[in-house]
Amino acid sequence: MKATSSSTDLNIDWLFIGGARVSPRSAERITVTSPNTSAVIGSVPHSGVEDVDAAVGAARAAFDDPEGWTKWAPARRARAMRRFADSIERRVPEFARRISSQNGMPLTTALATDGRTPVDVLRLFADFADQLVDDEERRSFTGGRTVVRRLPLGVVGAIVPWNFPQTLAVFKYAPALAVGCTVVLKPSPETVLDAALLAEAAEEADLPAGVFNIVPGGPETGKHLVSHPDVDKIAFTGSTEAGRSIGEACGRLMRPVTLELGGKSAAIVLDDADLAEAAGDGRLAKATMGNNGQTCHLSTRVLLPRSRYDEMVDVFAELAGSLVVGDSLDPATQVGPMVTSRHRDRVESYIAMGHAEGARLVAGGARPDRRGWFVRPTVFADVSNASTIAREEIFGPVLSLIPYDGVEEAVRIANDSRYGLAGTVWTSDPERGLDVAKQIVTGGVGLNGFRPDPASPLGGTKDSGLGSEMGPESMAHYQRFQSIYL
Ligand code: NAD
Repeated sequence: MKATSSSTDLNIDWLFIGGARVSPRSAERITVTSPNTSAVIGSVPHSGVEDVDAAVGAARAAFDDPEGWTKWAPARRARAMRRFADSIERRVPEFARRISSQNGMPLTTALATDGRTPVDVLRLFADFADQLVDDEERRSFTGGRTVVRRLPLGVVGAIVPWNFPQTLAVFKYAPALAVGCTVVLKPSPETVLDAALLAEAAEEADLPAGVFNIVPGGPETGKHLVSHPDVDKIAFTGSTEAGRSIGEACGRLMRPVTLELGGKSAAIVLDDADLAEAAGDGRLAKATMGNNGQTCHLSTRVLLPRSRYDEMVDVFAELAGSLVVGDSLDPATQVGPMVTSRHRDRVESYIAMGHAEGARLVAGGARPDRRGWFVRPTVFADVSNASTIAREEIFGPVLSLIPYDGVEEAVRIANDSRYGLAGTVWTSDPERGLDVAKQIVTGGVGLNGFRPDPASPLGGTKDSGLGSEMGPESMAHYQRFQSIYL
């Protein structure tokens, strides 16, 4: 059956490979269930080894075409990218609906972020493409001249998770397309219906055949893509565990790889912070529990000054208790369900761990009385930074409040983590906040909120990954250099 944007049960029987809808080689299918109701809401083909081979083959042929995408002037590629952005823009409400109905992201969040971000990021990188300089002549150190060339790396395998499926995909394919690479995107099995919509948008944008291909599938599909001999670069976002094994495989193959992995970021709340205001206007919930806690950069370890500890614990307890938990497609919902029952069980196991480790529960802790994979926003106070709930990524709406004495101690606790992705500082004094932010060893820090900026790089350090995404800097991860000494 052909996919239609309006149907509630989407059964799609094609893969987007080589610029067209093709029949899958594999007979396996992925069934998608609603985290709100556990009802089946659609299915798509599961890409097998032969489907990945076909997609990589198409991407390779497009890359090697002597008159093709790679050889186009950057401004011509930029025009195609803007067409792609336009065709995604026409579908933003449907993207948001599909994302929300699969992973539990509140619809309002999906409309404002994941459903919309690809439009803005593609246009931004089209602008960057317009400014690309392929060959640059320099005076050489030895007195002669050198031509420095920036060349597209080749076929990019892009592997993304389910939590922000469209955003994390465009962070890879926008810089890759801008510099002239071709792409095989592997979405996560939990979020394949929005990937099918992306295929429709790419088809409408009339990108040259093979420049952009999509192979929905699980880890085995991903593994085949990672080690495929015709792939030149891997861009991955997901768990640290999977990232480590992909990094190992790429190391053996000498294949360039960027890894955006897990996080356990800290919010340092300074003693002059106006937390009530941040709670009132939504910034605090967004930075600590946004997308139901299913966001990599959330500040889930909240460090509170002992001088205002009790009062600030109350702010978090009240905030967590006030958030509207409900069906992700309901516009009133602020916290939707966990993506799967398995993930809900995992989040609940951490809540049990918090109790066992002696933390004090001040909000949530139980399931709401409704169908679906819901967890109430949960806050533990008096948490030790050495405890499991403060060290491991939970990826759900569960906060650990940790008291500190003095800013030096707060910075030490913030940096005492195997992760190094993000963080926030909360203060009424921006200069003081900037000074503290500079001491946090992570890829990005927000002041009085967390608003990632697609025009600036963000990437993790330590177990949070290698390399960075976004910003014009990210294009270098899809390029190789050649110097010609004249
Ligand atoms: P995951 O690692 O289980 O899966 C991510 C993707 O990789 C999926 O498409 C999956 O099918 C594929 N995959 C898994 N194992 C693979 C392997 N060995 N080889 C190739 N592909 C493989 O992660 P998830 O549960 O889908 O996502 C949640 C994780 O993603 C969290 O840890 C979160 O912090 C992280 N994340 C990081 C960022 C960031 O920018 N740093 C952003 C969002 C999510």
